[in-house]
Amino acid sequence: MMSDGGWTRTVCPYCGVGCGVLARPDAGGHVEIKGDPDHPANFGRLCSKGAALGETMSLDDRLLTPSIGGQSVSWETALDKVAMSFRSTIERHAPDSVALYVSGQILSEDYYVANKLMKGFIGTANIDTNSRLCMASSVAGHKRAFGSDTVPGTYQDLELADLVILVGSNLAWCHPVLYQRLVAARKARGTKVVVIDPRATATCEIADLHLPIAPGADVALFNGLLAYLASAGAVNQDYVERFTSGLGAALKSSADLSLEETASICGLRRADILAFYELFAATEKSVTVYSQGVNQSSAGTDKVNAIINCHLLTGRIGRPGMGPFSVTGQPNAMGGREVGGLANMLAAHMELGNAEHRRIVQEFWGAPRIAKAAGLKAVDLFDAVASGRIKALWIMATNPVDSLPEADRVRKAIQSCPFVVVSDVTRDTDTTALADVLLPAAAWGEKDGTVTNSERRISRQRAFIERPGEAKPDWWQICEVAKRLGYADAFAYESPHEIFIEYAALTGAGNDGSRDLDLSGLADITGEGYRKLEPIQWPAGHDSAPTDSRFFAEGGFYTSDRRARFVETPFRAPASSVSATYPLILNTGRIRDQWHTMTRTGKSARLMSHMSEPFLEIHPDDANTLGLAPASLCEVESRHGKALLRVSISPDQRRGSVFAPIHWTDQYTGQARIDALIASNTDPVSGQPESKFTPVAVRPFRASWYAFALCLHSPVVPPGASYYAKAPAKIGQRFELAGIETPADWDDFASMLLGVTRQRAEETLTYRDVRSGAFRFALLREGRLVGALFVGTAPLSVSRSWVADQLGQSIDSGDRLRLLAGRPGADVPDKGRIVCACYEVGAKEIAEAILKHGCETADAVGACVKAGTNCGSCRSEIAGMIELSRISQAS
Ligand code: SF4
Repeated sequence: MMSDGGWTRTVCPYCGVGCGVLARPDAGGHVEIKGDPDHPANFGRLCSKGAALGETMSLDDRLLTPSIGGQSVSWETALDKVAMSFRSTIERHAPDSVALYVSGQILSEDYYVANKLMKGFIGTANIDTNSRLCMASSVAGHKRAFGSDTVPGTYQDLELADLVILVGSNLAWCHPVLYQRLVAARKARGTKVVVIDPRATATCEIADLHLPIAPGADVALFNGLLAYLASAGAVNQDYVERFTSGLGAALKSSADLSLEETASICGLRRADILAFYELFAATEKSVTVYSQGVNQSSAGTDKVNAIINCHLLTGRIGRPGMGPFSVTGQPNAMGGREVGGLANMLAAHMELGNAEHRRIVQEFWGAPRIAKAAGLKAVDLFDAVASGRIKALWIMATNPVDSLPEADRVRKAIQSCPFVVVSDVTRDTDTTALADVLLPAAAWGEKDGTVTNSERRISRQRAFIERPGEAKPDWWQICEVAKRLGYADAFAYESPHEIFIEYAALTGAGNDGSRDLDLSGLADITGEGYRKLEPIQWPAGHDSAPTDSRFFAEGGFYTSDRRARFVETPFRAPASSVSATYPLILNTGRIRDQWHTMTRTGKSARLMSHMSEPFLEIHPDDANTLGLAPASLCEVESRHGKALLRVSISPDQRRGSVFAPIHWTDQYTGQARIDALIASNTDPVSGQPESKFTPVAVRPFRASWYAFALCLHSPVVPPGASYYAKAPAKIGQRFELAGIETPADWDDFASMLLGVTRQRAEETLTYRDVRSGAFRFALLREGRLVGALFVGTAPLSVSRSWVADQLGQSIDSGDRLRLLAGRPGADVPDKGRIVCACYEVGAKEIAEAILKHGCETADAVGACVKAGTNCGSCRSEIAGMIELSRISQAS
């Protein structure tokens, strides 16, 4: 049943694992969420983000009506304006003067019609997607090796493998449910795990071997592996001879470096490299999982091919427990690839550069024209906006002002664009602020369609609540504009089902087995069949057997001679290099409980409680050299921009490297849009930016005061605060603040920040210590806490979770001193920083379980305080705390 007992089967809108979700709204507007036990991606599990979906659905920040120039208008008026502006721009400046920038967040049906409109009817391939920032290098690497963008394996392969190598993938935080499947398999069968990552991430909890590789050196490591495998006789001669070509040249180029040179480039010990090579050579059932650490590089495509080369050489591909495996970041990055959402692809895995493919697609669509050459890839597209070549731009479901490299330049480019349309769910983002026309989009929970996860599994996303206000699905918006541009017949869809069956039919058009993507078996499903569609892996053609779930065990590649290609991948250093001015390498990435630019996850107090501020993680030696104290603030500067971040000192960082999360925007903090610092160096084949290697300088930010504030309503940050970061509390907001100039009067500062009205029902509590610079202020209305401010001259050690829990509560006279102290009394437990978001278990509670109750494993901690017993995303952090306590007890 799709809707059983009020539960609707749908799919998580976050990462590429694509977990099945059961959602049930109640009459009060709350939505219950649980994992779908029947979905083959997750079998009922959800991570902290998925489990908190119900907390992110409030309407308080929703964009609910179309607007032009900030004035609400009807849909008719808004759509007429978009169509008229696009039409006049095309007429005056040719089709290539307009562009669409879409997202791995939209559904395949949205993507399909957007691509159809641009490539087949407007006649430009200037449609690209934020998936370019995520996995374009994997697409390019697959196509070079296989002749098609095919992920050969399935998630089950991670469970069947004897060796799993994780390259540039913090699976524990970025694909948590897949990680949990691997953890369970490892427990059951003793899978060996190798983690190749400059950082000792949470994923290293299960690593038998961690190789803290120098940033950007992966090609050298895998070239060395290829040469080693060849010399050690670990070649599957039969596979290589029957199904591949190009080995000689690839081997020649990979043998350029000696083991010592490889060790030196990789910054690894020779013995560790050898241990990895020997393990790989000896283990038939090997899966190499790779993600953004591989893709987001100026040599990303070569990294992918260097990995694939090793699997082709050993014939470890397409068989159970074997293969290279790219995991995508976004929920529908794969779907976008399938329907041609990238500027260099046609729909249904057909090629823009292939005349026969262009003919098939144009005829199928009955299109008046078809784009003949690749359009502009994301970074080039915004360069063209900046230079004025693109004059009309439609941005859909993404936030390029925050997520593209050199993001300040991108912001200026969009500001200078003559006509900008933004379709979004969220009213206030750093990108919607620049729109001429704003179109309110339907959100997760309100829209119907399909997505494809990292293992080629198509799942139905189903609506389970009504669309609010005037929000409309993205596919509808595109079709309405297409109709106004004169293409009514080709865009006369009434539903996502009609779009899906057309797309499924296209995958079969002219496909005599020459293309991997075949959904023709789904081309005649009825509306009811679509409604009930179970998660299904492609290929799903008329003739596809149910066992066809892996590719290439017996060759059958999609090149002209059906052989895979070994690709020469000579090692190249990253595009930038460190210097005396910018001596550290900035690596960027995700954190456990946040998603993209936090427009959804940032609304959940639970998710924000794990890491509630933008931060810079740095090795203790580097912190020491730079004079950075724990929890102080630092300025980070590259050639392109600056950020102000909280210092987090950790031995998990490599010396010389620092890490900052990608999530924070101007909506949440003052200066932490990390992509403003990132250079727009791209991979020459895939066009994917090098987001993991930016030379930066780091210096202490000399704050003279630090503050923590809470407020029931959104406070006004008074002038004088150089730094602020806000996060939701269970009710109200919490703020971190800091500044250089000490405000003349803290009472005035507090009054402005917290909105003191001095009405009779209002009461203020104040404490100040002039000598130490401490100031405490609490605002009560009718005896309940509505705001508080804690100020000190050093980073504050108040118990934030406890104080936040007091907001809105009655504070009796006995509790007032505790409140101003910012600490519960000895009789009240202090959780400390939240580690387990599911059960809101804090670091102090876990420490107590370890130290007082003798818990020596994450399981034991779970049994004691429940932490880590739901989604398991925090188990690696708990294991780290146990390890730390062991070390400190031993020293
Ligand atoms: Fe969603 Fe988490 Fe599953 Fe990813 S692992 S799809 S974020 S529940």
